[in-house]
Amino acid sequence: MSSLEKLIKSLVDDGYLKTPSIIEAFQKINRVDFVPEDLKEVAYENNPLPIGYEQTISQPLTVAFMLELLEPKKGEKILDIGAGSGWQTALLAHIVADGGGKVIAIERIPELKTIAEENVAKYNFLEKDVVQIIQGDGSKGRKDKAPYDKIIAAASADKIPSAWKEQLKIGGRIVAPVGQSIVMIEKTEQNQFAQKQYFGFSFVPLVKGKV
Ligand code: SAH
Repeated sequence: MSSLEKLIKSLVDDGYLKTPSIIEAFQKINRVDFVPEDLKEVAYENNPLPIGYEQTISQPLTVAFMLELLEPKKGEKILDIGAGSGWQTALLAHIVADGGGKVIAIERIPELKTIAEENVAKYNFLEKDVVQIIQGDGSKGRKDKAPYDKIIAAASADKIPSAWKEQLKIGGRIVAPVGQSIVMIEKTEQNQFAQKQYFGFSFVPLVKGKV
């Protein structure tokens, strides 16, 4: 069994990965393509890894848990805040691409925006217009592309920004870190939300304003 297969098996055995389309994305979008050259050997360990600029590629377990809560489906339009390495952006793109889905990813740090683009391009998602990566402050969401079926964030805020709730379709979901927990919000009606919270995770902060 390859190191990638072992990682996926452990995430399935431990109950983090469940949905066939998410498992397939983990198989097809290879994490080694999203880590720096000197860390390729440890790409399949279940750990966050440094990607420069004091940021990390998220831990596989955390990404698996958050994607299972998000329930991404083909054809959906998803806002991904904090593109970083582009790994989660590419996983989402693989899931939504069929049926004309799109991933709009926002990254605050210009150098990481470029790295995310280079990595995501390895899977032709830019060329095929499935992914667009934008440099900017994702705490305001991205109004001109709204509304979104789903919104996911990889950096932790004190509370879920109201812009994200406004830019979400009714019936849509937000999955995002708040402090060191993960929150899942469903928009049940205009201005009505149901929320669940899961504890015991660790995230880099969502930084507001200009770089
Ligand atoms: N999903 C990424 C996670 C990267 S860590 C991966 O697996 O590689 C979180 C990222 O959020 C960092 O790259 C950080 O620069 C970015 N970030 C922090 N605050 C942000 C903000 N306000 N808007 C957009 N991106 C932000």
